[in-house]
Amino acid sequence: MDYVINGHKWWISGAGDPRCKVFIVMGKTDPAAPRHAQQSMIVVPADTPGITIKRPLTVFGYDDAPHGHCEILFENVRVPAANLMLGEGRGFEIAQGRLGPGRIHHCMRAIGVAERALELMCRRLDSRVAFGRKISEQGVWRERIAESRIRIDTARLLTLKTAALMDTVGNKHAKAEIAMIKVLAPNVTQQVLDWAIQAYGAAGVSDDFPLANQWAGNRTLRLADGPDEVHRNAIAKLELARYA
Ligand SMILES: Cc1cc2nc3c(=O)[nH]c(=O)nc-3n(C[C@H](O)[C@H](O)[C@H](O)COP(=O)(O)OP(=O)(O)OC[C@H]3O[C@@H](n4cnc5c(N)ncnc54)[C@H](O)[C@@H]3O)c2cc1C
Repeated sequence: MDYVINGHKWWISGAGDPRCKVFIVMGKTDPAAPRHAQQSMIVVPADTPGITIKRPLTVFGYDDAPHGHCEILFENVRVPAANLMLGEGRGFEIAQGRLGPGRIHHCMRAIGVAERALELMCRRLDSRVAFGRKISEQGVWRERIAESRIRIDTARLLTLKTAALMDTVGNKHAKAEIAMIKVLAPNVTQQVLDWAIQAYGAAGVSDDFPLANQWAGNRTLRLADGPDEVHRNAIAKLELARYA
């Protein structure tokens, strides 16, 4: 028995990398089944007839080569049923299992980016003189440096708490913390990067320094793996449920 896949998907990260030999496709196999049992996941070899990689999309102009984020068309793509992962109707279950670790991984990287941005910001402000004194001596910059440190350490501690819960009680019981950190870490990093870019002046928006590229990459984290609003909604639901 085979499955036949028809579909059109944007933003498939990694699809542009020549080392990418298989896709994992999630699709509906039974729209009449209960809500969380309608989807399945299947392994699709990248060279299966019917697959067209239409183009790599850009992120604020960056192509993120070689891995890229591709737009792909699946037209009557035929795959043996043996390629099904875990079983029909279990796609949602697989996605839920993967998303927690995937999300916390994004957060760890975001915190690393924020640390780097704060270091670059401090070094720049301490080495540059404007109107007769170091920019690092200006009160407004001391505020921003302090605030960056407070926010980074706050995000780091919540990430550590989330990781500890995932290790000890499991991803399911850490879902509020996973959602919280997925909102907090990219937003903290976004603000620190923004201040760092400001500290560099026009140089900050050029590609001579890593900040512009990091800003573009980090901004996608407020969308990828679920937009901020969806996570906040999940957090609010869990909070309200405590008093229902
Ligand atoms: C760089 C990058 C890489 C990606 N890589 C992959 C990948 O490898 N594989 C993959 O499958 N996907 C990937 N994605 C897609 C990503 O997961 C989706 O873009 C994301 O889940 C948001 O879905 P959407 O773009 O359809 O936005 P929509 O669902 O159309 O949402 C648009 C906006 O509507 C608002 N919104 C949506 N839902 C709600 C709600 N419940 N309450 C309030 N407001 C809401 C939010 O403001 C949201 O930003 C990638 C995206 C990017 C940017």
